[in-house]
Amino acid sequence: MRTSDDYDVVVIGAGFGGLATALELSARGARVALCETLRYPGGCASTYTRRGCSYESGATLFSGFAPGQLFHTWMETYAMDVTIDWLDPMVELRTADLNLPVSPRREELIERFMGLPGAPREGIQAFFSRQERVADVLWELLKRPELLPPFKPSALVGHARRLGQYLPLLRWMGRPLIAVMRDCGVADFEPLRIYLDALCQITVQCGVEEAEALFAMSTMDYYFRGTGHVRGGIGELAWALSRAIESNGGDVIYTNRVKGARRGADGRWVVEARRGELTAPFLVANLLPHNIRDLLGLSIGDNSTLDRLASAVEGGWGAAMLYLTARPPEGASPHAHHLELIQDPGAPFMEGNHLFCSISGEADEGRAPGGLRTITISTHIPWRAYAARSAEEQADYIRGVQATMREGFEALAPKWAAGVESEMPASPRTFERFTGRHGGLVGGIPRRAGIHNYRDLLPQEPAPGLFMVGDTVFPGQSTLATAIGGVKVAEHIARKAGFSVAEGRRAAR
Ligand SMILES: Cc1cc2nc3c(=O)[nH]c(=O)nc-3n(C[C@H](O)[C@H](O)[C@H](O)COP(=O)(O)OP(=O)(O)OC[C@H]3O[C@@H](n4cnc5c(N)ncnc54)[C@H](O)[C@@H]3O)c2cc1C
Repeated sequence: MRTSDDYDVVVIGAGFGGLATALELSARGARVALCETLRYPGGCASTYTRRGCSYESGATLFSGFAPGQLFHTWMETYAMDVTIDWLDPMVELRTADLNLPVSPRREELIERFMGLPGAPREGIQAFFSRQERVADVLWELLKRPELLPPFKPSALVGHARRLGQYLPLLRWMGRPLIAVMRDCGVADFEPLRIYLDALCQITVQCGVEEAEALFAMSTMDYYFRGTGHVRGGIGELAWALSRAIESNGGDVIYTNRVKGARRGADGRWVVEARRGELTAPFLVANLLPHNIRDLLGLSIGDNSTLDRLASAVEGGWGAAMLYLTARPPEGASPHAHHLELIQDPGAPFMEGNHLFCSISGEADEGRAPGGLRTITISTHIPWRAYAARSAEEQADYIRGVQATMREGFEALAPKWAAGVESEMPASPRTFERFTGRHGGLVGGIPRRAGIHNYRDLLPQEPAPGLFMVGDTVFPGQSTLATAIGGVKVAEHIARKAGFSVAEGRRAAR
């Protein structure tokens, strides 16, 4: 007999991976419980409120809003009250010697590079046309998640038809992006190199020397494909997804930390959460592999899938943050905008040398009182080196990084820096405290060169009936990628369990 705490699927964590999985499963008529430890959804891509101001916790610039793309489709299907502000420029890249407004239109950006002194014009054109061909093929897969693994027979037919498009890509598979740049004769053109290093650092989480060429060339289209600012903050979209799950009959249970999970004698998962026990045949964990190990009471060596993914993500990053309020300078744009600031282009793009700054717009009502704007500034922290320090050394090191962040903001965005009225710093420890992410690891697994990137394309099921979603599993980091990963896992579970969209609609009526 079914009790009220007995579900088809329990999802742990309302980040974009968990929200997407719960939404797609509830749309198929599955009885879903989504447990979230915080009072609000979104995790690394949420909007939180402190002392009357609302800040983006981490992620600030989102793709997937163009017609046919996932977020756009959901916004239409569920009539979500979410407004997207389109930005132009998308980002302003600044160093001491370069000020590059990044246009949301590819041709304009290429023209901008070609107009710079010493630009290798033919090489730039060759590079971007090669990049565009790769992006066209790979974004189609993101637009149509049914083409991603695990494949239905119809998807295999679709891929067979596309073979001609895939073959030219094989040459670059597993190789670093710098190899493509050298081949096109643009590796030594400094403005392009700075732009690509900065872009790759925030997309595939490493610079051009390391970035795997196909992942990097595909994500290089980030600024050109349905990317914008969510008015009021990304939390607006996360809440809209949460409400859509409930409108499908799902339960979203906030302040409900999951403390443990085990398989019962009948093979169902028994989930021990703050607000009581839940059971289900399927469990979805929107968590880092380390946190899944903890929930299951496993040690290193007990589960090879979790161990492999844990080790891969540890080669990535934590984040140091500054959350500011500022009075806008005279003549400031009323729109939300993004600055990417690099103090020394010759030094690694991390530890305060490279900053991503997101400033809320005038239309972002309620973000800060009295005409102030909120600003979220982030920089990468190399996780292994950070984790190897003692707690005291970590605190000193983060204070040093945050001092470098302030210097960079003052030097490269002086007008905004002059108007700063309040500051809240944050570190990997803060991320761990709020999102529960082990050691404050963020940003997923860096896509460094190598064909290992193509190994874990299938949904990861580290224990029978337990599936992983989130930025440590394919297709990887970003809100759109984690949401697409969630859709794929939901489809996979639905196929196994026999849930269907038609049945879900019948139940909703
Ligand atoms: C500083 C920064 C800037 C970024 N910028 C961008 C950007 O501009 N654009 C972009 O697209 N992406 C960006 N990203 C990446 C993006 O935010 C992430 O890839 C994505 O949001 C991760 O989503 P997730 O579902 O994997 O997990 P998370 O967001 O980590 O969600 C996991 C959820 O699980 C909850 N949880 C944890 N433990 C438990 C438990 N035991 N019980 C119940 N709930 C639990 C957490 O509270 C959280 O809500 C950025 C990331 C960072 C850190």
